[in-house]
Amino acid sequence: MNKEITPKTSGMALIVDDDLTVRILARETLEQAGFIVTDIADGAQALSAFEQVKPDIILLDVMMPGTNGFTVCKQIRRHPDGKNTPILMMTGLDDVDSIKQAFEIGATDFITKPVNWLILGHRVRYLLRAGQALQELSKSQARLSYALQIARMGSWEWDIENDELHWSEEACQIFNIDPVGLEGSYHAFLNSVHPLDKEFVSSQLEEALRNNKPYSIDHLILLPNGTERYVHTEAQIFSDNDGRPVKMTGTVQDITERRNTEQQIRYLAYYDNLTGLPNGVLFKENLQHAIAYAERHNRKVATLFLDLDRFKRINDTLGHTTGDKLLQGIAERLTQCIRKHDHVTREDPTQTLGSIARLGGDEFTILLDDMCHSQDAAKVALRIIEKTAHPFELDGHEVFVTASIGISVYPNDGKDIVTLIKNADTAMYHAKDLGRNNFQYYAESMNATAFERLMLETQLRKALEREEFMLYYQPQVNIQSGTIIGFEALIRWQNPELGMVAPSTFIPLAEETGLIIRIDDWVIATACKQLKMWEDAGLPPVRVAVNLSGQHFSQKNLPETIRKIIAETGINPQYLELEVTEGVLMRNAEETIATLNDLKEMGLSLSVDDFGTGYSSLSYLKRFSLDTLKIDQSFVSDVIDDADNAAIITAIIAMARSLKLKIIAEGVETLEQLDFLRAHGCYEMQGYLFSRPSPEEATTRMLLEGKKFMSWERKADCEKDT
Ligand code: C2E
Ligand code: CA
Ligand code: CA
Repeated sequence: MNKEITPKTSGMALIVDDDLTVRILARETLEQAGFIVTDIADGAQALSAFEQVKPDIILLDVMMPGTNGFTVCKQIRRHPDGKNTPILMMTGLDDVDSIKQAFEIGATDFITKPVNWLILGHRVRYLLRAGQALQELSKSQARLSYALQIARMGSWEWDIENDELHWSEEACQIFNIDPVGLEGSYHAFLNSVHPLDKEFVSSQLEEALRNNKPYSIDHLILLPNGTERYVHTEAQIFSDNDGRPVKMTGTVQDITERRNTEQQIRYLAYYDNLTGLPNGVLFKENLQHAIAYAERHNRKVATLFLDLDRFKRINDTLGHTTGDKLLQGIAERLTQCIRKHDHVTREDPTQTLGSIARLGGDEFTILLDDMCHSQDAAKVALRIIEKTAHPFELDGHEVFVTASIGISVYPNDGKDIVTLIKNADTAMYHAKDLGRNNFQYYAESMNATAFERLMLETQLRKALEREEFMLYYQPQVNIQSGTIIGFEALIRWQNPELGMVAPSTFIPLAEETGLIIRIDDWVIATACKQLKMWEDAGLPPVRVAVNLSGQHFSQKNLPETIRKIIAETGINPQYLELEVTEGVLMRNAEETIATLNDLKEMGLSLSVDDFGTGYSSLSYLKRFSLDTLKIDQSFVSDVIDDADNAAIITAIIAMARSLKLKIIAEGVETLEQLDFLRAHGCYEMQGYLFSRPSPEEATTRMLLEGKKFMSWERKADCEKDT
C-alpha cells in the first residue's frame, strides 16, 4: 500500500463499509487500480465524506449498523452532485431482494460478498468509464437544450390521423403557452398563428400535405399576451404505405430578432439617415416599378429632380448643423407638398400620389406615378417652389432658400430609368440657367403647354367667386309653327386676362379638377333664376335645358341639390330640362337609372345629348325614363353629303318613335339639312340656321317679341323656285 507512488490518474474513490477487512482489501485493490481512496466505517458520515471527497466512484456496503447502504445511496442520489456518480453496492451472495432494492434506489451496479478482489479492479474501471460516458451525454443534452433555448428553437410532432400535436418544451416557450394542460391539436396551433397569417399558413400546410413536400415557411404568431413574434418552421411529412400522410415532424424557431435586424439593414440600405426619406437606391427601384405599371396601364410617370439654389453658401456661412436642419425642413415640406389630401388640391380627383427621395447633398427626387397628363407634374413642381420659398426658422436665423426643378416624363422623355434620371437632371440644369427658382420640363414643348394649363386652372378656380361666368341661350324651334319651344343654356367664361374662353377648352379641365360640380350647380341655379324672372315679367312659359356633367352621377346628392334650387327659386320643375350625354347613361347604369327616376319624379324633363355617338341599343335605352333624344350635330352637319349619316339619322328617328321619345336635331345650319330632317319626320331643331346662342337681354327680347322663325320658309321656297 504505497500511497506515494500511486499515479493519480483514475480519480477519487470512497469506500463505505463497517467491516475493517473489506475496507483494507478494497483500498488495496483500488489503489492498485490508480485511485486515491478514502474509506469510512459509518454510514451516517457517508454524505459529508461524499461532499468532501467528491468521489468519482463509491463502494457501498448494504448491511451496516445504524445508517445502512440503501439510505446512503438515496441521500447521495438526492444530492445535486450525486445524480450520476457510479455507486457499486456490496451485498450478501443470495440476497436477491437487496439487489433489486439497490437498483430501485439508484445503485449503478452490485457485487456479491465475499468479494473477488481481482475482478473488483476491472469492474470499477468499467463502471467509471460508463459513468463518464453517461455524464458526458447528460452534459451534452443540457448543452443542446441550452443551445435550442438560445436559438429559440423548438420541435413538434403532429399525428395527423388522430390530430394530436406534441410540442417540445422549447416550442411551448416560443408560443408562450403552458405545457401543462396544453390542448395539442392542429386547431390549437392555428389559434396561435397571427390572424394576418392564418390563411397563408393553412394554405401552405395543405399544399405540403397534398404534394407530400417538405414544408418551410416564415410567419407571424400572436402570443396570449398580445405580442407579435416571427417564427420559421421546417417540417417533414411521413406517409403510410398508401402514400397517405400520417405524421409530420418539424422544428419551429423564433426569428423575430433576425427579422428586426434584417429590417434595420434594409433601412440602412434604402433610407437616408438625415431625413428618413428613401435614398437613391430605393428611388431607382420605385421608378422601375412605376414604369412597369405605367407601361401595362398606359399611364405616365414623372421624375422631378430638385436641387436647392445656393445651398453651399448656407452651409458655409451657418455651418453644417444648420445646413442639415435645413435639409430636414425641406424634406418635411416636400412630404407635405405631395400628400394626397393637400388643401390646395382637395377637389382634384386626378391628384397623384408621389414618393420623395434624397439622393445626397441638397438633391431630392420626386416620383409621380400613375398620371394621366404630363402637365400634372407642373402643378406639383409649382407647389414645391411656392412652399420652399417660405423662410425657415433655424437656430434663431431666418433662412431663405429656393429650388430649381427638372422634370422628365415617361414615356415621352425616356423609357428606362437611366434616361429618365439623366433627362430630369438636364432639365434641372436648364432651370438653373434660366435664373433658378423655377421648373423646366425636359421636352421644351411641354413648358409652354404646362404653363398655359396652370394659368387656366388657376383662373378657373377663381372664376366662380369673381362671377366671370354667364349663360347664353340658344333657341329650340318647332319648324311647323316657327315658335320657340325652349332654350339650351350654354355657359360662357369671360376672363379679364384670358378673354372669352370656349367651353370646349375649360369644361374638360373643370371635369378633371372636379370643379365642374360647382360650375354646373351655378348653371342650374342661374337658369332657374332666369326662368323665374321671365315668369315674373309675364312672358309666356318656356323650357330651359341645362347640360349636366357625368360626374354628378357619382355624387349621391344631385336630386337633393336640384330640389333645393327649385324650392328656392319657386319655378315649375316641368320647365327645367337636364341634358345628359349618352356616355353617362352607359356608365354605371344602375345608379344612373335610380337618380334619373328621382329627377323624373320631381317633374323635370330629361334628354339624351349627342345621341348617336354612343351606340346605345333600343333595349338599353328603354331602361331609362327619358323624354327626348338630341341627334348629335356631327350627323346633321354631313347629312347631305354622307349617305351613312343620312341612314343613321333615319334610324335614330325611327328608334325615337318606337320608344315614344321626342326628337330634336342639333347644329342645323342649312336649309338642306332642315329639309332632310323634316322629310324624315323630325320637326324640332336647334342651330345657327335659327339663331346662335345669345346673351340674356337678346334672349329676353326674343321672348318679348314672341319671335317666330318663318323666314327660312320663304328662303327655302325661293331656293326651290330658282
Ligand atoms: P353641346 O351640349 O353639344 O352644346 C351644343 C354646342 O353646339 C354649343 O357649343 C353650341 O354653341 C354649338 N352649336 C349650336 N348650334 C350650332 C350650329 O349650328 N353649328 C355648330 N357648329 N355649332 C352649334 P358651346 O356653347 O361651345 O358648348 C360646347 C359644349 O360644352 C357643349 O356641347 C356642352 O357639352 C359643353 N357645355 C356648354 N355649356 C355647359 C354647361 O353649362 N355645363 C356643362 N357641363 N357643359 C356645358
Ligand atoms: Ca347640350
Ligand atoms: Ca350636343
